[in-house]
Amino acid sequence: MKVNNLAFFGAMPKFSSPLPVGQLYFPGWERYKSAFREIFERQYYTNQGPLTQELENKIEDFLGVKNAICVSNGTIGLMMVAEALEISGKVILPSFTFVASAQALVWSGLKPLFCDVDADTHQIDHRQVLALIDNDVGAILGVNLWGGACDLESLEDIGGKKGVQVFFDSAHGFGCVSNGLKLGNYGRAEIFSFHATKLLNATEGGCICTNDDELADRLRNIRSSYGVEKKVDVAKTSNGRMSEAQAAIALMSLEDFNKNREHNKKIYDLYCSNLQKVPGLKILKPSNVSTSNHQYVVCMIEESEFRLSRDILLKLLRSENILARRYFYPGLHNTIPFKFDKQISTGGLMNTDYICATCLQLPIGGLVAKGDVEIICNIINNIHDLSVDIRLKLEQ
Ligand SMILES: *Cc1c(COP(=O)(O)O)cnc(C)c1O
Repeated sequence: MKVNNLAFFGAMPKFSSPLPVGQLYFPGWERYKSAFREIFERQYYTNQGPLTQELENKIEDFLGVKNAICVSNGTIGLMMVAEALEISGKVILPSFTFVASAQALVWSGLKPLFCDVDADTHQIDHRQVLALIDNDVGAILGVNLWGGACDLESLEDIGGKKGVQVFFDSAHGFGCVSNGLKLGNYGRAEIFSFHATKLLNATEGGCICTNDDELADRLRNIRSSYGVEKKVDVAKTSNGRMSEAQAAIALMSLEDFNKNREHNKKIYDLYCSNLQKVPGLKILKPSNVSTSNHQYVVCMIEESEFRLSRDILLKLLRSENILARRYFYPGLHNTIPFKFDKQISTGGLMNTDYICATCLQLPIGGLVAKGDVEIICNIINNIHDLSVDIRLKLEQ
């Protein structure tokens, strides 16, 4: 292969249509049609209908958790938990996460306090969490990233010892198992997202899980009067209900969940074996879990060895219609409004800055076949082999 065979330098892209990094599960038209016919026949669109109830029961069974409270999206779920736990003051969370983790806190009148992550796992660094705790800290929001988990027990321990509540954003973690327990069972509560790009998908949607029945009652009341099992007085309600249309898709996605996860595992393994010899490219292993959903394939690009920067590799891949991403760039502490607030971005986020500059996500999920991975890996291998020529041509 020559430099001119790359789409970036004028050749035809290797893929005629774009390959996304997100999951994008479609259940099949006939199944979808019959589920929707039933919704029409019942003439019941929302307000904790039969499909939403069925979904909650099935999620509780699947995760082995006492309460699953389905909501319209993950971000609303985070806001509802902040309200139900009556958190005040500052909340420690990693800066290396999706913007919604922090924005949900802002909507709840809380102040994010950004913490660094571990360089190898990308998960929140519990030693820094401990160092950041003071009297103004009301909670810790751990984030379970990349189909892995943060150090759940250490965070729960710190919370217990310091009298600070701990909850988790597990938007990446549906179906993952840590220490013999599925995510959904940790902290005061965990929030999942069922956005279209996540492995369990309701088009839009989410779910709060907790083993605390009292908290669950508060959350159901905060959601709205529909689906309340026990009436509790709450100061704010959210109308964060899930519709029957969302629940119908999520039920099909849950039915296919193990199949979809196994597909992802095969894709992930194939990337690992086909890219293992590329200097300066390392694929992250999901941390702290015995089973991952492999929702993402995350690579770290070390420029001195790969001989091209992450951003150049990204451009070359995107020209081929391989829609690789640099998730969470440039880190929440560098985004509006947080970058203007010296109290919450006090520096010391060295690993976050480093990871933001070097990590890259590759396509995985239902739309990606094994043959596609072979092609993607060939291109990456070729790009590395041609790196000297590519640099020369870029400098021209
Ligand atoms: C997707 C995601 C969310 C938000 O979920 P929505 O359902 O889109 O509101 C929150 N946190 C993380 C880490 C996510 O990846």
